Amino acid sequence: MPAPSDLLIRRARLRRGPPTPVDIAIRNGVVEAIGKELRPPAKVEIDAAGGLVTESFVNPHLHLDKVYTAAMLDGQAMQDYHGQDMGKAMAAIERAAGVKQRYDEGWMDENVRRAVALAARYGTTHLRAFADVDTKAQLVGARALLRARQEWRGRVEIQVVAFPQDGVVREPGAADLVRQALELGADVVGGIPWIEYTDVDAQTHVDAMFDLAVEFDRDVSMLVDDAGDAGLRTLEMMAVRAIRSGWRGRALAHHARAMALYPKPYLQKVAAMMRQAGMGIVTDPHTGPLHARVRELLEEGVLVCLGQDDISDAYYPFGRNNPLEVAFLASHLLWMTSRDDIDRLYDMITVDAARAIGLQDHRLAVGAQANLVVLEAPDVLEALREHAAPRHVIREGVVASSTG
Ligand SMILES: [Zn+2]
Repeated sequence: MPAPSDLLIRRARLRRGPPTPVDIAIRNGVVEAIGKELRPPAKVEIDAAGGLVTESFVNPHLHLDKVYTAAMLDGQAMQDYHGQDMGKAMAAIERAAGVKQRYDEGWMDENVRRAVALAARYGTTHLRAFADVDTKAQLVGARALLRARQEWRGRVEIQVVAFPQDGVVREPGAADLVRQALELGADVVGGIPWIEYTDVDAQTHVDAMFDLAVEFDRDVSMLVDDAGDAGLRTLEMMAVRAIRSGWRGRALAHHARAMALYPKPYLQKVAAMMRQAGMGIVTDPHTGPLHARVRELLEEGVLVCLGQDDISDAYYPFGRNNPLEVAFLASHLLWMTSRDDIDRLYDMITVDAARAIGLQDHRLAVGAQANLVVLEAPDVLEALREHAAPRHVIREGVVASSTG
Protein backbone atom coordinates (compact mmCIF):
# COMPACT_ATOMS: atom_id res chain seq x y z
CA MET A 1 0.00 0.00 0.00
CA PRO A 2 1.50 3.40 -0.97
CA ALA A 3 2.21 5.98 1.71
CA PRO A 4 -0.80 8.25 2.22
CA SER A 5 -0.88 11.68 0.62
CA ASP A 6 -0.66 14.63 2.98
CA LEU A 7 -3.82 16.23 1.64
CA LEU A 8 -6.58 15.12 -0.70
CA ILE A 9 -9.03 17.63 -2.16
CA ARG A 10 -12.07 15.72 -3.36
CA ARG A 11 -14.61 16.81 -5.96
CA ALA A 12 -12.69 19.89 -7.16
CA ARG A 13 -13.83 21.72 -10.26
CA LEU A 14 -10.95 23.05 -12.36
CA ARG A 15 -11.02 26.19 -14.50
CA ARG A 16 -10.11 24.53 -17.75
CA GLY A 17 -10.60 20.95 -16.69
CA PRO A 18 -13.29 18.38 -17.40
CA PRO A 19 -16.90 19.35 -16.66
CA THR A 20 -17.09 16.87 -13.81
CA PRO A 21 -15.10 17.37 -10.59
CA VAL A 22 -11.74 15.70 -9.96
CA ASP A 23 -9.57 14.86 -6.98
CA ILE A 24 -6.24 16.56 -6.22
CA ALA A 25 -3.63 14.71 -4.17
CA ILE A 26 -0.83 16.66 -2.50
CA ARG A 27 2.38 15.39 -0.92
CA ASN A 28 5.33 17.30 0.50
CA GLY A 29 3.77 20.61 -0.50
CA VAL A 30 3.53 19.60 -4.15
CA VAL A 31 0.58 18.47 -6.29
CA GLU A 32 1.13 14.75 -6.73
CA ALA A 33 -1.83 13.77 -8.90
CA ILE A 34 -4.99 15.19 -10.43
CA GLY A 35 -7.68 12.83 -11.65
CA LYS A 36 -11.12 11.33 -11.35
CA GLU A 37 -11.84 9.54 -8.09
CA LEU A 38 -8.20 9.12 -7.12
CA ARG A 39 -9.19 8.68 -3.51
CA PRO A 40 -5.78 7.57 -2.28
CA PRO A 41 -5.43 7.32 1.48
CA ALA A 42 -4.65 10.81 2.80
CA LYS A 43 -3.84 12.28 6.19
CA VAL A 44 -6.24 15.19 5.62
CA GLU A 45 -9.23 15.28 3.29
CA ILE A 46 -11.21 18.26 2.06
CA ASP A 47 -14.45 17.95 0.13
CA ALA A 48 -14.61 20.78 -2.40
CA ALA A 49 -18.20 19.67 -3.20
CA GLY A 50 -17.91 20.79 -6.81
CA GLY A 51 -16.47 24.19 -5.95
CA LEU A 52 -13.76 25.76 -8.08
CA VAL A 53 -10.16 25.05 -7.05
CA THR A 54 -7.47 27.29 -8.54
CA GLU A 55 -4.10 28.78 -7.84
CA SER A 56 -4.16 31.01 -4.77
CA PHE A 57 -4.35 34.79 -5.12
CA VAL A 58 -1.31 37.02 -5.45
CA ASN A 59 -1.42 40.72 -4.62
CA PRO A 60 1.50 42.50 -6.26
CA HIS A 61 0.82 45.99 -4.85
CA LEU A 62 -0.21 47.09 -1.36
CA HIS A 63 0.90 50.12 0.67
CA LEU A 64 0.92 48.03 3.81
CA ASP A 65 2.59 50.61 6.06
CA LYS A 66 -0.33 53.02 5.45
CA VAL A 67 -3.34 50.75 5.95
CA TYR A 68 -6.08 52.21 8.19
CA THR A 69 -4.42 55.63 8.43
CA ALA A 70 -7.29 57.52 6.73
CA ALA A 71 -8.58 58.70 10.11
CA MET A 72 -5.31 60.53 10.76
CA LEU A 73 -5.82 62.73 7.68
CA ASP A 74 -8.34 65.39 6.74
CA GLY A 75 -9.40 63.92 3.41
CA GLN A 76 -7.89 66.66 1.26
CA ALA A 77 -5.22 64.33 -0.17
CA MET A 78 -7.92 61.96 -1.43
CA GLN A 79 -9.86 64.81 -3.00
CA ASP A 80 -6.71 65.95 -4.78
CA TYR A 81 -5.76 62.48 -5.98
CA HIS A 82 -9.26 61.62 -7.16
CA GLY A 83 -9.91 65.06 -8.65
CA GLN A 84 -10.79 65.40 -12.28
CA ASP A 85 -7.89 64.57 -14.62
CA MET A 86 -5.54 63.86 -11.69
CA GLY A 87 -3.76 67.18 -12.15
CA LYS A 88 -3.23 67.41 -8.38
CA ALA A 89 -1.72 63.97 -7.84
CA MET A 90 1.62 65.41 -6.72
CA ALA A 91 -0.07 67.76 -4.24
CA ALA A 92 -2.01 64.75 -2.90
CA ILE A 93 1.19 62.84 -2.18
CA GLU A 94 2.71 65.89 -0.46
CA ARG A 95 -0.37 66.20 1.78
CA ALA A 96 -0.50 62.49 2.48
CA ALA A 97 3.11 62.61 3.69
CA GLY A 98 1.82 64.31 6.85
CA VAL A 99 0.85 60.97 8.31
CA LYS A 100 4.49 59.93 8.33
CA GLN A 101 5.27 62.44 11.07
CA ARG A 102 3.20 60.10 13.23
CA TYR A 103 4.73 56.80 12.12
CA ASP A 104 5.04 54.62 15.16
CA GLU A 105 5.59 50.93 15.63
CA GLY A 106 2.81 50.77 18.23
CA TRP A 107 -0.13 51.33 15.92
CA MET A 108 1.54 50.20 12.72
CA ASP A 109 2.12 46.58 13.77
CA GLU A 110 -1.55 46.28 14.70
CA ASN A 111 -2.77 47.79 11.43
CA VAL A 112 -0.43 45.62 9.38
CA ARG A 113 -1.58 42.49 11.21
CA ARG A 114 -5.22 43.36 10.57
CA ALA A 115 -4.60 43.82 6.83
CA VAL A 116 -2.49 40.67 6.41
CA ALA A 117 -5.09 38.65 8.31
CA LEU A 118 -7.58 39.78 5.66
CA ALA A 119 -5.16 38.75 2.92
CA ALA A 120 -4.97 35.29 4.46
CA ARG A 121 -8.74 35.07 4.87
CA TYR A 122 -9.38 36.05 1.25
CA GLY A 123 -6.87 33.62 -0.21
CA THR A 124 -3.77 35.73 -0.87
CA THR A 125 -0.67 33.64 -0.26
CA HIS A 126 1.82 36.09 -1.78
CA LEU A 127 1.92 39.82 -1.28
CA ARG A 128 4.27 42.57 -2.49
CA ALA A 129 4.09 45.28 0.18
CA PHE A 130 5.45 48.82 -0.08
CA ALA A 131 7.02 50.63 2.89
CA ASP A 132 7.74 54.35 2.58
CA VAL A 133 11.40 55.01 3.22
CA ASP A 134 12.27 58.70 3.52
CA THR A 135 13.44 61.31 6.01
CA LYS A 136 10.00 61.48 7.66
CA ALA A 137 9.15 57.78 7.81
CA GLN A 138 12.82 56.81 8.27
CA LEU A 139 12.84 53.00 8.52
CA VAL A 140 9.79 52.66 10.80
CA GLY A 141 7.55 51.28 8.03
CA ALA A 142 10.26 49.06 6.54
CA ARG A 143 11.02 47.51 9.91
CA ALA A 144 7.30 46.93 10.59
CA LEU A 145 6.85 45.13 7.27
CA LEU A 146 9.99 43.05 7.81
CA ARG A 147 8.54 41.98 11.16
CA ALA A 148 5.27 41.10 9.43
CA ARG A 149 7.17 39.08 6.82
CA GLN A 150 8.61 37.01 9.64
CA GLU A 151 5.34 36.75 11.56
CA TRP A 152 3.33 35.50 8.56
CA ARG A 153 5.96 33.23 7.02
CA GLY A 154 4.33 29.98 5.90
CA ARG A 155 0.89 31.56 5.56
CA VAL A 156 1.33 34.77 3.57
CA GLU A 157 4.65 35.34 1.84
CA ILE A 158 5.41 39.08 2.04
CA GLN A 159 7.92 40.76 -0.27
CA VAL A 160 8.95 44.09 1.25
CA VAL A 161 9.59 47.00 -1.14
CA ALA A 162 11.80 49.84 0.09
CA PHE A 163 9.86 52.69 -1.47
CA PRO A 164 11.05 56.33 -1.58
CA GLN A 165 7.52 57.76 -1.94
CA ASP A 166 8.61 61.40 -1.77
CA GLY A 167 11.44 61.16 -4.31
CA VAL A 168 15.19 60.71 -4.08
CA VAL A 169 16.44 63.91 -5.75
CA ARG A 170 13.93 66.24 -4.10
CA GLU A 171 14.29 64.32 -0.83
CA PRO A 172 18.01 64.23 -0.01
CA GLY A 173 18.84 61.26 2.18
CA ALA A 174 16.07 59.02 0.84
CA ALA A 175 18.36 56.97 -1.41
CA ASP A 176 20.62 56.22 1.52
CA LEU A 177 17.62 55.08 3.56
CA VAL A 178 16.60 52.76 0.71
CA ARG A 179 20.10 51.29 0.89
CA GLN A 180 19.74 50.81 4.65
CA ALA A 181 16.37 49.11 4.17
CA LEU A 182 17.98 46.72 1.66
CA GLU A 183 20.74 46.00 4.16
CA LEU A 184 18.03 45.17 6.71
CA GLY A 185 16.63 42.64 4.24
CA ALA A 186 14.02 44.42 2.11
CA ASP A 187 13.30 42.24 -0.92
CA VAL A 188 12.62 44.79 -3.65
CA VAL A 189 13.92 48.26 -4.64
CA GLY A 190 11.07 50.75 -5.04
CA GLY A 191 10.84 54.02 -6.90
CA ILE A 192 8.50 56.80 -7.99
CA PRO A 193 10.45 58.82 -10.55
CA TRP A 194 7.53 60.94 -11.80
CA ILE A 195 7.36 62.69 -8.41
CA GLU A 196 10.65 64.50 -9.15
CA TYR A 197 10.52 68.11 -10.41
CA THR A 198 12.19 67.59 -13.80
CA ASP A 199 12.76 64.85 -16.36
CA VAL A 200 16.48 65.00 -15.64
CA ASP A 201 15.80 64.38 -11.94
CA ALA A 202 13.38 61.57 -12.84
CA GLN A 203 16.12 59.88 -14.87
CA THR A 204 18.53 60.30 -11.93
CA HIS A 205 15.91 58.67 -9.69
CA VAL A 206 15.46 55.70 -12.05
CA ASP A 207 19.22 55.25 -12.37
CA ALA A 208 19.90 55.53 -8.63
CA MET A 209 17.33 52.85 -7.81
CA PHE A 210 18.44 50.49 -10.59
CA ASP A 211 22.04 50.92 -9.44
CA LEU A 212 20.97 49.73 -5.98
CA ALA A 213 19.00 46.85 -7.49
CA VAL A 214 22.04 45.69 -9.45
CA GLU A 215 24.34 46.11 -6.43
CA PHE A 216 22.03 44.14 -4.11
CA ASP A 217 20.69 41.78 -6.81
CA ARG A 218 17.06 42.72 -6.13
CA ASP A 219 13.96 43.17 -8.27
CA VAL A 220 12.56 46.65 -8.93
CA SER A 221 9.01 47.95 -8.46
CA MET A 222 8.32 51.53 -9.47
CA LEU A 223 5.20 53.69 -9.44
CA VAL A 224 5.39 55.51 -12.75
CA ASP A 225 3.52 58.28 -14.58
CA ASP A 226 0.83 58.51 -11.92
CA ALA A 227 -0.78 61.87 -12.69
CA GLY A 228 -2.98 63.43 -15.33
CA ASP A 229 -0.13 64.53 -17.60
CA ALA A 230 0.28 62.96 -21.03
CA GLY A 231 3.88 64.23 -21.11
CA LEU A 232 5.12 62.01 -18.28
CA ARG A 233 7.84 59.68 -19.53
CA THR A 234 8.97 57.62 -16.54
CA LEU A 235 7.39 54.34 -17.67
CA GLU A 236 9.57 54.61 -20.75
CA MET A 237 12.66 55.53 -18.68
CA MET A 238 12.08 52.51 -16.48
CA ALA A 239 11.69 50.12 -19.42
CA VAL A 240 14.83 51.47 -21.11
CA ARG A 241 16.89 51.12 -17.94
CA ALA A 242 15.57 47.57 -17.35
CA ILE A 243 16.65 46.63 -20.88
CA ARG A 244 20.08 48.23 -20.47
CA SER A 245 20.69 46.63 -17.06
CA GLY A 246 19.62 43.20 -18.30
CA TRP A 247 16.87 43.24 -15.64
CA ARG A 248 14.55 41.23 -17.87
CA GLY A 249 11.55 39.97 -15.94
CA ARG A 250 12.81 41.66 -12.76
CA ALA A 251 11.28 45.13 -13.14
CA LEU A 252 7.60 45.76 -12.49
CA ALA A 253 5.74 48.99 -13.26
CA HIS A 254 2.76 50.18 -11.22
CA HIS A 255 -0.10 52.60 -11.87
CA ALA A 256 1.00 54.49 -15.04
CA ARG A 257 -2.37 56.26 -15.04
CA ALA A 258 -1.04 58.93 -17.43
CA MET A 259 -1.11 56.17 -20.02
CA ALA A 260 -4.81 56.92 -20.38
CA LEU A 261 -3.73 60.17 -22.05
CA TYR A 262 -0.80 58.91 -24.16
CA PRO A 263 -1.21 59.24 -27.94
CA LYS A 264 -1.74 55.78 -29.41
CA PRO A 265 1.58 55.59 -31.33
CA TYR A 266 3.48 56.45 -28.13
CA LEU A 267 1.54 53.81 -26.19
CA GLN A 268 2.49 51.22 -28.80
CA LYS A 269 6.14 52.24 -28.63
CA VAL A 270 6.22 51.95 -24.83
CA ALA A 271 4.38 48.61 -24.97
CA ALA A 272 7.06 47.30 -27.33
CA MET A 273 9.76 48.43 -24.87
CA MET A 274 7.91 46.76 -21.99
CA ARG A 275 7.83 43.50 -23.92
CA GLN A 276 11.52 43.87 -24.67
CA ALA A 277 12.22 44.46 -20.96
CA GLY A 278 9.96 41.59 -19.89
CA MET A 279 8.34 44.24 -17.71
CA GLY A 280 4.78 43.79 -16.51
CA ILE A 281 2.44 46.35 -15.04
CA VAL A 282 0.14 46.37 -12.02
CA THR A 283 -3.04 48.38 -12.37
CA ASP A 284 -5.46 49.28 -9.56
CA PRO A 285 -8.40 50.89 -11.35
CA HIS A 286 -10.47 51.29 -8.16
CA THR A 287 -8.01 53.70 -6.50
CA GLY A 288 -7.87 56.51 -9.07
CA PRO A 289 -9.90 58.07 -11.86
CA LEU A 290 -7.44 57.34 -14.71
CA HIS A 291 -6.45 53.81 -15.64
CA ALA A 292 -3.68 52.04 -17.51
CA ARG A 293 -4.99 50.92 -20.90
CA VAL A 294 -5.40 47.30 -19.99
CA ARG A 295 -7.12 46.02 -23.10
CA GLU A 296 -4.59 47.59 -25.47
CA LEU A 297 -1.65 46.41 -23.35
CA LEU A 298 -3.01 42.87 -23.43
CA GLU A 299 -3.39 43.11 -27.20
CA GLU A 300 0.26 44.18 -27.37
CA GLY A 301 1.29 41.13 -25.34
CA VAL A 302 2.25 43.00 -22.14
CA LEU A 303 1.86 41.23 -18.80
CA VAL A 304 -0.89 43.03 -16.83
CA CYS A 305 -2.12 42.22 -13.34
CA LEU A 306 -4.28 43.73 -10.61
CA GLY A 307 -3.37 44.96 -7.13
CA GLN A 308 -5.21 46.13 -4.01
CA ASP A 309 -3.02 49.26 -3.75
CA ASP A 310 -4.59 50.88 -0.68
CA ILE A 311 -6.77 50.08 2.31
CA SER A 312 -8.38 53.00 4.12
CA ASP A 313 -5.54 55.46 3.70
CA ALA A 314 -5.02 58.89 2.15
CA TYR A 315 -5.79 57.56 -1.33
CA TYR A 316 -8.70 55.10 -0.98
CA PRO A 317 -11.44 54.84 1.63
CA PHE A 318 -12.27 51.12 1.39
CA GLY A 319 -10.42 47.85 0.77
CA ARG A 320 -10.78 44.39 2.25
CA ASN A 321 -7.59 42.92 0.80
CA ASN A 322 -9.79 40.65 -1.27
CA PRO A 323 -8.44 40.04 -4.80
CA LEU A 324 -11.82 38.80 -6.02
CA GLU A 325 -13.31 42.14 -4.99
CA VAL A 326 -10.48 43.96 -6.80
CA ALA A 327 -11.20 41.94 -9.96
CA PHE A 328 -14.94 42.60 -9.55
CA LEU A 329 -14.32 46.35 -9.38
CA ALA A 330 -11.89 46.20 -12.32
CA SER A 331 -14.52 44.41 -14.39
CA HIS A 332 -16.76 47.46 -14.03
CA LEU A 333 -14.16 50.20 -14.25
CA LEU A 334 -12.45 48.71 -17.31
CA TRP A 335 -15.67 47.37 -18.83
CA MET A 336 -14.28 43.88 -18.98
CA THR A 337 -17.49 41.90 -18.73
CA SER A 338 -17.42 39.14 -21.38
CA ARG A 339 -16.68 35.57 -20.31
CA ASP A 340 -13.19 35.87 -21.82
CA ASP A 341 -12.64 39.18 -20.02
CA ILE A 342 -13.66 37.68 -16.70
CA ASP A 343 -11.32 34.74 -17.25
CA ARG A 344 -8.57 37.22 -17.97
CA LEU A 345 -9.31 39.18 -14.80
CA TYR A 346 -9.04 35.97 -12.81
CA ASP A 347 -5.59 35.35 -14.35
CA MET A 348 -4.66 38.89 -13.33
CA ILE A 349 -5.13 38.10 -9.63
CA THR A 350 -3.56 34.63 -9.78
CA VAL A 351 -1.06 33.35 -12.35
CA ASP A 352 -0.26 36.67 -14.03
CA ALA A 353 0.22 38.51 -10.73
CA ALA A 354 2.50 35.65 -9.66
CA ARG A 355 4.66 35.96 -12.77
CA ALA A 356 4.81 39.72 -12.26
CA ILE A 357 6.43 39.37 -8.84
CA GLY A 358 8.81 36.62 -9.89
CA LEU A 359 7.05 33.47 -8.69
CA GLN A 360 8.17 30.87 -11.18
CA ASP A 361 5.84 27.98 -10.53
CA HIS A 362 2.45 29.34 -9.53
CA ARG A 363 0.10 27.01 -11.36
CA LEU A 364 -2.24 24.19 -10.57
CA ALA A 365 -0.46 21.24 -12.15
CA VAL A 366 1.18 17.98 -11.16
CA GLY A 367 4.66 18.74 -9.84
CA ALA A 368 3.92 22.37 -8.95
CA GLN A 369 3.84 23.76 -5.41
CA ALA A 370 0.33 23.50 -3.95
CA ASN A 371 -0.75 27.10 -3.29
CA LEU A 372 -4.48 26.87 -3.86
CA VAL A 373 -7.89 28.25 -3.01
CA VAL A 374 -10.99 26.10 -2.68
CA LEU A 375 -14.00 28.26 -3.52
CA GLU A 376 -17.68 27.81 -2.93
CA ALA A 377 -18.38 29.08 -6.45
CA PRO A 378 -18.28 26.54 -9.30
CA ASP A 379 -16.76 28.93 -11.87
CA VAL A 380 -14.93 32.25 -12.21
CA LEU A 381 -18.05 34.23 -13.11
CA GLU A 382 -19.74 33.26 -9.87
CA ALA A 383 -16.49 33.70 -7.96
CA LEU A 384 -16.30 37.34 -9.08
CA ARG A 385 -20.02 37.93 -8.60
CA GLU A 386 -19.94 36.80 -4.97
CA HIS A 387 -16.30 37.69 -4.20
CA ALA A 388 -16.66 35.55 -1.10
CA ALA A 389 -13.75 34.31 1.00
CA PRO A 390 -12.49 30.89 -0.13
CA ARG A 391 -13.71 27.92 1.89
CA HIS A 392 -10.09 26.82 2.24
CA VAL A 393 -6.72 28.36 1.50
CA ILE A 394 -3.82 25.99 0.95
CA ARG A 395 -0.24 27.18 1.31
CA GLU A 396 2.52 24.78 0.29
CA GLY A 397 0.18 21.84 0.67
CA VAL A 398 -1.08 22.76 4.13
CA VAL A 399 -4.54 24.12 4.92
CA ALA A 400 -3.64 27.65 6.07
CA SER A 401 -7.19 28.89 6.71
CA SER A 402 -10.81 27.79 6.37
CA THR A 403 -14.12 29.60 6.64
CA GLY A 404 -17.55 28.35 7.52
ZN1 LIG B 1 0.10 52.54 -5.12
